[in-house]
Amino acid sequence: MIAVKPIYAFEDANSKNRMLLGGKGAGLSEMTKLKLPVPPGFTITTEVCNKYYENKKHLPKNLMSEVSKNISKIEKKTAKKWNSSDNPLLVSVRSGAAISMPGMMDTILNLGLNDQTVLGLAKKTKNSRFAWDSYRRFIQLFGKVVFNIDDQNFDNILDSAKKTQGVVDDSQLNIDSLKKIVLDYKQICEKYAKRKFPTNPNEQLQLAIEAVFKSWMGERAVVYREKNNITKSVANGTAVNIVTMVFGNMGNDSATGVVFTRNGHNGTKELEGEYLLNAQGEDVVAGVRTGKDILTLQDEMPKSYSELNNACKKLEKHFREPQDIEFTIEQGKFYLLQTRTAKMSAAALIKTSVDMVKEKLIDKNKAITRIPAQQLEALLHKTIDQDRIKEYRQLAKGIAASPGAASGIVVFDVKKAISMGESNTKVILIRKETKPEDVPAFFSSEGILTSQGGKSSHAAIVSRGMGKPCIVGCTELKIDYDNKKCEMNGVLVAEGDSVTIDGSTGIVYSGNIPTVEPQVTSDFKTVLSWAQKIKRLGIRANADTPDAAKLARKYGAEGIGLCRTERMFNADDRLNIFVDMIMSTSENQRKDVLKKLEELQKNDFTEILKAMEGYKVTIRLLDPPLHEFLPNPEELLDKIYKNKNDPNISETRKVLDRAKELAEINPMMGHRGVRLGITYPDIYEMQIRAIFEATAELVKKKVDAKPQIMVPQIGSIEELNHIKLIYDNVKSMMEKKYRTKFKINFGTMLEVVRACLTSNELVKTAEFFSFGTNDLTQAVFSFSREDAENKFLPEYMEKELLETSPFQSIDENGVGNLMEIAIAQGRKIKKNLEIGICGEHGGDPNSIKFCHSVNISYVSASPHRIPIAIVAAAQATINQKP
Ligand code: PEP
Ligand code: MG
Repeated sequence: MIAVKPIYAFEDANSKNRMLLGGKGAGLSEMTKLKLPVPPGFTITTEVCNKYYENKKHLPKNLMSEVSKNISKIEKKTAKKWNSSDNPLLVSVRSGAAISMPGMMDTILNLGLNDQTVLGLAKKTKNSRFAWDSYRRFIQLFGKVVFNIDDQNFDNILDSAKKTQGVVDDSQLNIDSLKKIVLDYKQICEKYAKRKFPTNPNEQLQLAIEAVFKSWMGERAVVYREKNNITKSVANGTAVNIVTMVFGNMGNDSATGVVFTRNGHNGTKELEGEYLLNAQGEDVVAGVRTGKDILTLQDEMPKSYSELNNACKKLEKHFREPQDIEFTIEQGKFYLLQTRTAKMSAAALIKTSVDMVKEKLIDKNKAITRIPAQQLEALLHKTIDQDRIKEYRQLAKGIAASPGAASGIVVFDVKKAISMGESNTKVILIRKETKPEDVPAFFSSEGILTSQGGKSSHAAIVSRGMGKPCIVGCTELKIDYDNKKCEMNGVLVAEGDSVTIDGSTGIVYSGNIPTVEPQVTSDFKTVLSWAQKIKRLGIRANADTPDAAKLARKYGAEGIGLCRTERMFNADDRLNIFVDMIMSTSENQRKDVLKKLEELQKNDFTEILKAMEGYKVTIRLLDPPLHEFLPNPEELLDKIYKNKNDPNISETRKVLDRAKELAEINPMMGHRGVRLGITYPDIYEMQIRAIFEATAELVKKKVDAKPQIMVPQIGSIEELNHIKLIYDNVKSMMEKKYRTKFKINFGTMLEVVRACLTSNELVKTAEFFSFGTNDLTQAVFSFSREDAENKFLPEYMEKELLETSPFQSIDENGVGNLMEIAIAQGRKIKKNLEIGICGEHGGDPNSIKFCHSVNISYVSASPHRIPIAIVAAAQATINQKP
């Protein structure tokens, strides 16, 4: 085995090893090898980051001497000198994990500057202003990243310097002002860090490397990883890249910019991006100044533009993926500083997938696997109802940065957005710009609106990655944080007012505009049709109403895996009848009510079966405990108290008594599922009859209806056989009544641990199995599915006791293991037994991958997730190990 070195020069690294080099390091190395103009540099590996943590946050002993050796190599390549007062070598220190985490980790520029080297830089470049401007930028970044000093402290100094000199733009500050700023900045650092500002470049470098490693476990990086499911197997530690500084701020023949090789918003094949003349990279990324469209570079610097264009083509051809590139032009010389796979909106991913297949750049398998299935949710997002739009006032227009429409209450404060979002209030977060530490608020907001920044600004990139609607660079928006209000074209909007943002057009409206369901584009349909042909797993829907069944079918569902019959009673008029049934005091009374319910259910089943003609529809008999259908006792008591003198209040008292009677200490493990069928057989009998009646009616009309009946919460063959008797009775009555044979499969859910363990017994009666992984997860962990996710699971994940919630992704070692036992036992007896899954996991790409690997027959997901499930199932087939 070849020993892994702690440091690799870009030209020496194995650029395929992203886990070791991180994405940025791998990209720099790959570009160097492609002979593209990359400034010399080296990468400290992610392994060193892990050692740093193993070592209680100490760098390995020999690291800094290795760093020095590599700095010497750069000195030779660049003919510059480290810590020189004539021709100083300066470097940037950039983080980079295996998975790109935009804006999550920290970068330091111009490292190596001190009171002597700044003079050398001034001498060498014959540009004192530039040298001092670089110095003040370095101190600010260093202070922020290494000493954790809030930017505001530096901004205050900068603002007052501009005021004193009477200028508005940073670029107008003269040398004296900059020198004063440098002094003040150092003082700020010394005040907060309680130490002298480090002057030795070696010490600066060591502190910067440690700071990058520390930022790996910083709160915002941890939250980002958690929310994006970035586990250790995907990215384990960050690398540190030390790169020779090249300067985009050396005058008007210098510039810096970021481009996407294709439009990241809609996927069109055109360069998309922005640049700033006479600026450093951070200015573009942070969106502090709004950049110029990349196409104007063609006029301003035609030679550099053509070099950029050629580099883009070369990189796309090499990586077979649209790239997100950072470049700098230093006095007319073009450099590439980064390349990575462009993070695109879901629409852009779809379009580029279809286009690149047409261009023969990739094949269909690659076209499908490059799309993170989860991200497709954004395409299934709502848009503004165009018929209603005229009734609402347009407030402002900004840059459309992430598609989809969202409405909510305006909030300017990040913490407030988090707390309101968590209490289920719909919030639109409005900020001048956003920074990485604001990311937690993105999760709790419906959408994001900023007054500054371009399409590559932090707010834009993060929102797009999350599939949240976002508008940036909305210059017509003037924010007054102190008074919690803003103004858009003369209209005042205060915290608490409602707005709607359209992230596809960039327009902000006042009020809550109704939205319409998304349309699946023809490119999306193309990708789905490829995926349909590739996937092995069947895809069914969890649908309880005719409308949901129709929508699911439109999205490509091949049947219904779970029709929760109790959901049919949710409408107000129906709920009352169901309550009547629960309240019936005599069998006759209950029979009458059940008749009414039977008619309703029969009609619903008919419609659902019709919508899914030709496909199986698995109808589950009543599952939840009956008290769930009654108002809660506290509400009833309150009503009784407030309406003491109402002559009808005795009815409410009866409901209260019944609710108390039905109340259970632990209802999820109580009187529900098959236990209801055993104690109230007439309910199950009614439901089974309604299914047969609906089928009979459809058969008469020559509709190919394929219902199957599923019993919930089964734990033993005795329970299942007990219900089977009811089924058999109804069946023989129906066959007599209609003088025909019915083929309606009878099966069971596997959601009780004992059911999984005795599947070899259940299979003798059951014609199919369906895993209810919601209840099964609850049972396997003994975690309440109602409470765990908002009570203790977040802390479990924070403390790395769990990587993801087992209610979101199947816990393969526990729940998965049990599923495998159940599958093996069942299929040993019935080789071709149909086994599905209908818990929420059925729409989760990771769980779908697992289901594919254990030979499940189909997954069942909610209608909106069907396209995601189709793509995830195809990805599982493509990626399966041979
Ligand atoms: C399950 O438990 O996974 C399931 C589908 O049933 P429900 O969520 O309705 O309990
Ligand atoms: Mg269940």
